[in-house]
Amino acid sequence: VVAALAEGRGVAVSRGECVEIGGGFRIPEVMERAGARLVDVGTTNRTHRDDYARAVSDEDIALIMRIYPSNFTVSGFTADVDVADLAALGVPVVCDVGSGLLDSSASFLGGRLQPVPAWIADEPAVRDALSDGAGLVTFSGDKLLGGPQCGIIAGRADLVAACARHPLMRA
Ligand SMILES: *Cc1c(COP(=O)(O)O)cnc(C)c1O
Repeated sequence: VVAALAEGRGVAVSRGECVEIGGGFRIPEVMERAGARLVDVGTTNRTHRDDYARAVSDEDIALIMRIYPSNFTVSGFTADVDVADLAALGVPVVCDVGSGLLDSSASFLGGRLQPVPAWIADEPAVRDALSDGAGLVTFSGDKLLGGPQCGIIAGRADLVAACARHPLMRA
């Protein structure tokens, strides 16, 4: 996604979301390999809408990227920004969600578990991010969906098409 949509440009990421995931993949290195410039926004524990707004007005920002911290928590004096507020800044928002939960009502459970378990209630979901205004959502095919190791890109047709045309898509 970053290589296709942000090569040679800036990608705004909250400092609190600049993570390393399993296997040693790190957001700053992913950005570098994709040829994009990581634009650090906010602080480790608190990032505000105005931090993103300043980045978007001061720099050449191709994407705002939200990365869900799947395997750690930051608690206490924290703040982050709703996807809807980010989408209003006029730059495509990409949400990297963790589990691959398709929607927060967990419709795949067919209403059998009400209320939905807490781990689902706290998990960001693909459809919810899109209806909040995310341009793209990326998620794992091999976690909750139980498929092969793969990443799935969903969202705005023009952005998906630009990713599909990129040579890395073959990989
Ligand atoms: C698991 C995860 C990934 C990587 O997805 P895989 O397809 O399992 O390699 C990326 N981002 C987040 C937020 C994750 O939780």
